[in-house]
Amino acid sequence: MLVGVPKEIKNHEYRVGLTPASVQELIHHGHQVLVEKNAGHSIGFTDELYERAGAVIAETAAEVFQRAEMIVKVKEPQTVERAMLREGQVLFTYLHLAPDEPQTRELMQSGATCIAYETVTDDHGRLPLLAPMSEVAGRMSIQAGAHCLEKYKGGRGVLLGGVPGVEPGHVVIIGGGVVGENAAAMAVGMGADVTILDRSVDVLRRLDARFGNRIQTQFSTKSALEELALNADMLVGAVLIPGASAPKLVTRELISQMKPGSAIVDVAIDQGGCCETSRPTTHADPIYMVDGVVHYCVANMPGAVARTSTLALNNATLPYALALADKGAGQALRDDPHLLNGLNVCQGKITCKEVSEARDIPY
Ligand code: NAD
Repeated sequence: MLVGVPKEIKNHEYRVGLTPASVQELIHHGHQVLVEKNAGHSIGFTDELYERAGAVIAETAAEVFQRAEMIVKVKEPQTVERAMLREGQVLFTYLHLAPDEPQTRELMQSGATCIAYETVTDDHGRLPLLAPMSEVAGRMSIQAGAHCLEKYKGGRGVLLGGVPGVEPGHVVIIGGGVVGENAAAMAVGMGADVTILDRSVDVLRRLDARFGNRIQTQFSTKSALEELALNADMLVGAVLIPGASAPKLVTRELISQMKPGSAIVDVAIDQGGCCETSRPTTHADPIYMVDGVVHYCVANMPGAVARTSTLALNNATLPYALALADKGAGQALRDDPHLLNGLNVCQGKITCKEVSEARDIPY
């Protein structure tokens, strides 16, 4: 199969669909790979590395879209890219169609076979192609929050790990899933005092087994959260109710009573955020203050560490990309019900229940 990798064109997107190592795997399986010039240049994956891996460099995105049988990307195709998709071509990337009417319609019109990373499942009912980005965001949340606690950012001037003779910072993590667990690992590593709240006792058991007495676990109730928030130096919002907006667990009133200069890192901002005062920010202008509390609410945190994120994403996507190329999309989808759950649009029709319901288009 001829696999194409265009350069990402969404604003400030530096990730790339396939790393040189992934390209080499595809070549090894007998496929050809066409990579757009400079596709990975800004994160150190030069054209030379791709050529050494066996790829052919294309001068333009148009050439990649015209020739490739399967396009592997990171972000949803932008308008100009959607116009280049054609019938029967396979598109493998993040799509997030539910809130995006124009993209949904144009992908249907293209006739392409569109497989979305975010709806591929695994045997445990999890979303294996979303998890790597939650791992990245969870780990980043503590380093972002640590900067917010610095005085010149408006923070309290607290060092998370403390020093001998001075107590560490108190980190409270709401939600102990992928983001929460990875945040906890970083906070523990930095020597902070860490408490995680979750409303699933199984999740709390798993965290307890992993971290032992290096963290406290708390069943998530309104009163537990209030008590912990008042003593927190840093709050990390990491809750998710699948398919729904994040619940507003931290009220404006509670925030007004938090210690001046404490920090909130609301990772759940991509689902609306779990604090009443959260609004999405960007890497260019990531923080703002409300009632003396520093807020960090960047909606695409992994974008800042695009090289790590690309490598992590490829570790998760490569087995599926190989299956699609080796067997052809039809057979690969028939063989793997989890990959089939990733199929969002096929032959002009919506093939994902959630997208169909969100967009009110029959499937
Ligand atoms: P997850 O499903 O692995 O974990 C969510 C956890 O929240 C679950 O353990 C669940 O039991 C818990 N929860 C639900 N309601 C709760 C409540 N009332 N109190 C306490 N815990 C509660 O999800 P995840 O992968 O960790 O993702 C968390 C959020 O981070 C999602 O909204 C995700 O989209 C977001 N995210 C954001 C970025 C970003 O760049 N900002 C990147 C990746 C993920």
